[in-house]
Amino acid sequence: MSRYVIVGNGTAAIGCVEGIRFVDPLGKITVLSKENHPAYCRPLISYFLEDKTDPKKMLYRAETFYEDNGCEVLYNVSATALDPETKTLTLDSGDTLSYDKICVATGSSPFVPPMENLENVKNRFSFLTLDDAKALKKAVKPSSRVLIIGAGLIGLKCAEGLRAITKNITVCDLADHVLSSILDAKDAAFVQKHLEANDLKFTLHNSVAKFKGNTAIMQNGDEIPFDILVTAVGVRANWGLVKDAGGACGRAITVNEKMETSLEDVYAAGDCTESTDISDSLIKVMALMPNAYMQGYTAGINMAGGEKVFDNAIPMNSIGFFGLHMMTAGSRKGQMKTDIQKDSIKRFYKEDGKLIGFVLIGDVQNAGVYTNILRNQIPIKSLSEFNIKKSPSMATYDEEFRRKTLESVVK
Ligand SMILES: Cc1cc2nc3c(=O)[nH]c(=O)nc-3n(C[C@H](O)[C@H](O)[C@H](O)COP(=O)(O)OP(=O)(O)OC[C@H]3O[C@@H](n4cnc5c(N)ncnc54)[C@H](O)[C@@H]3O)c2cc1C
Repeated sequence: MSRYVIVGNGTAAIGCVEGIRFVDPLGKITVLSKENHPAYCRPLISYFLEDKTDPKKMLYRAETFYEDNGCEVLYNVSATALDPETKTLTLDSGDTLSYDKICVATGSSPFVPPMENLENVKNRFSFLTLDDAKALKKAVKPSSRVLIIGAGLIGLKCAEGLRAITKNITVCDLADHVLSSILDAKDAAFVQKHLEANDLKFTLHNSVAKFKGNTAIMQNGDEIPFDILVTAVGVRANWGLVKDAGGACGRAITVNEKMETSLEDVYAAGDCTESTDISDSLIKVMALMPNAYMQGYTAGINMAGGEKVFDNAIPMNSIGFFGLHMMTAGSRKGQMKTDIQKDSIKRFYKEDGKLIGFVLIGDVQNAGVYTNILRNQIPIKSLSEFNIKKSPSMATYDEEFRRKTLESVVK
């Protein structure tokens, strides 16, 4: 009987369990979980702040998932070292665990750049885990003044969640516009206006130079007193196990299309890995739930002796703030087609006859169809009724794609 070990217990790990079980119903699966919770939907932690959900509703799978799949889960346990020669994993307790195949699905950790006197700030939080959200929720009062460093997706989701508790929230960012990794300045201004209408305050192109107690001295000289500080500047891949064992890494763990690392019988999946973005052929960390799941599932199938590749990763964000929904995918280059209305913006980017990216703000209808066209690199010429302003449907695709897709659904 094969022994499988999965390090981490997030989306990629669940995908890996399901991939293994698709092929091997009997092998022994051990899941190591640093967090003391069954896998949950990480993007929901901001809704937890707002009391729109609770830990039970946030579960990523049914409560019986691990039992149903014959997994042993070791909660509150971290792996500290991997030895691919002896095929053993060392745990923080000092115990070791042997494996035949292992998947590293360790996600990422918050990155906090050095800031003078940061260590002396009281009530300082990150916003990545359910425990972070629980601690933050406990500390914030309706009278709290909150400063959030980082106007990216995580900082803004945190701001939205906290807005249900306090009106006094300032977000700063070194970039000159919000969501700078997914939006250009024009589209970001549209979103920022909506955020400001919901009472968030911004200071952009400006970050904290140093702290004097719980006052931030900003680079432009302004002083911002606060009660609660949230650092949401970015994350770094948890690649230590593979890197320290001599495995290849770039900005994260290097994997091939089968999710194999350069170490024998060691696979990796999710936010701790980097892979090729098919919309621009660049190698990137695409820290997103759908990618994490598909990578984990692919790793699991291959670990159990099946055959699967995941070779169509794209960066994709489906988010909403205070009722404004948006979806971005792929790259923002090439030929652009724009449709701007009072309450919405749509941009489509095309190169070599293919859709390589899109941005939808305020109207995300048909996003699934656009994503399919992009992910499957379907030539626009072959889309019989492709008209961005009309409502695309399955009829949009050519006959062969329709047949293949429908076959895979009914099979
Ligand atoms: C606030 C927020 C909003 C988000 N919104 C979206 C969204 O709208 N859409 C979207 O697609 N994605 C979103 N994401 C990103 C998404 O949550 C991640 O891409 C996804 O959770 C990655 O899954 P993963 O399994 O790779 O990593 P994780 O979910 O991070 O799981 C990794 C687990 O491994 C554990 N671990 C690490 N090291 C060890 C070790 N040595 N031993 C044992 N365990 C270890 C970690 O503690 C963690 O529990 C959001 C993330 C955040 C924080």
